Amino acid sequence: MKKFVLMTAGPTQVRENVRLARSIVTTNPDEDISFCEYYKELCDKLSHFFHTKNPFYILSGEGILGLEAACASLTEKGDRVLVLDNGIFGKGFADFVTLYGGEAVLYTVDDKMPISVEDLEAYLKKDSNFKYATVVHCDTPSGMLNDVERICALLKKHHILTVVDSVSASFGVPLDVDKGRIDILCGGSQKALSAPIGLTFLGVSDAAIKAMKQRKTKIASFYGNILSYADYYEKKWFPYTMPISDVYGFGQALENVLEEKDIFARHEKIAKATRKAVESAGLEQYIHSGYSNTVTAIVVPEGISDKALLKKMREEYGVMISGCFDVLAGKVVRIGHMGENANVPDMLTTLHAFQNVLEEMGFSLKCDMANVFLKEME
Ligand SMILES: *Cc1c(COP(=O)(O)O)cnc(C)c1O
Repeated sequence: MKKFVLMTAGPTQVRENVRLARSIVTTNPDEDISFCEYYKELCDKLSHFFHTKNPFYILSGEGILGLEAACASLTEKGDRVLVLDNGIFGKGFADFVTLYGGEAVLYTVDDKMPISVEDLEAYLKKDSNFKYATVVHCDTPSGMLNDVERICALLKKHHILTVVDSVSASFGVPLDVDKGRIDILCGGSQKALSAPIGLTFLGVSDAAIKAMKQRKTKIASFYGNILSYADYYEKKWFPYTMPISDVYGFGQALENVLEEKDIFARHEKIAKATRKAVESAGLEQYIHSGYSNTVTAIVVPEGISDKALLKKMREEYGVMISGCFDVLAGKVVRIGHMGENANVPDMLTTLHAFQNVLEEMGFSLKCDMANVFLKEME
């Protein structure tokens, strides 16, 4: 298979030591108590990293499983759920809510701006009768970053539980779970953590566990039942056999993150330089504020086909960036500068290829993006 410079908005590049960790000799994770201890240590490191005492659970299944598990575990028939929507993933939560019998009440706002805490506060004064609310930290298709700490703290003031999708923000953007009083934090292995695809992790509050235990009806999912994880450590028992090699890879990727002095500063610097290069060249970003430091979504210039652009990037320059989907299909292309992707040499290769392809396709740029990027990095 051809090897590309992988610069997509997830999955991201995986470091060699992570790939090697997946080849370590395995034990039986059901029988060998040392695996349970290892798993617990990883979960504790996640709690520490996200500034919370809430326990974390690592589930087999990629990011989407985490979102679905949160909704499956909390939602009972007829529950009103507030779905904060300023992006594709934001709106997408409504599907999980309704799938489990809930009533999704959409709070839809401008998808080019972060959710305004003040406007939400005014809305909640009129209607706050919700069991829980969902919100996306970084809505990856547009690269929109929402201030989930403030949003969730506000929701909690109104006694609403909160579910946060931080799949594409976690490890690239700081997050303090306790400050935001976030009840369920959802993350994935394949974005800024830069582990292979296949695992999701959930940080779950006591209040969320209590709400699950107080349900009148059973959780209508087996894989998505968070309660079945809640006492794994006491019982030394997992609801199903853990994918041990995936977990080893995850553990090494987490080690890499923890060894780095300031992973957030790296993301911020690269993201700012990327935005500067793109804007200086006369390209337009899709959103107007609230830029996430993990991904930049660029409007495809008039008359240019995104598919042709992405194909040229891949085939002529060996660089893979992301297109988009749903309402943004064909409208934006995205550079995923998250996790291992967020490094200067690969960003230079990407911007150089992007520049050449756009010019070959007849769009002339106002500057050399790679040069502007480099200058910003000084
Ligand atoms: C990537 C991502 C997910 C997980 O979806 P995938 O199918 O793994 O791509 C969930 N939420 C957000 C915001 C994501 O970026």
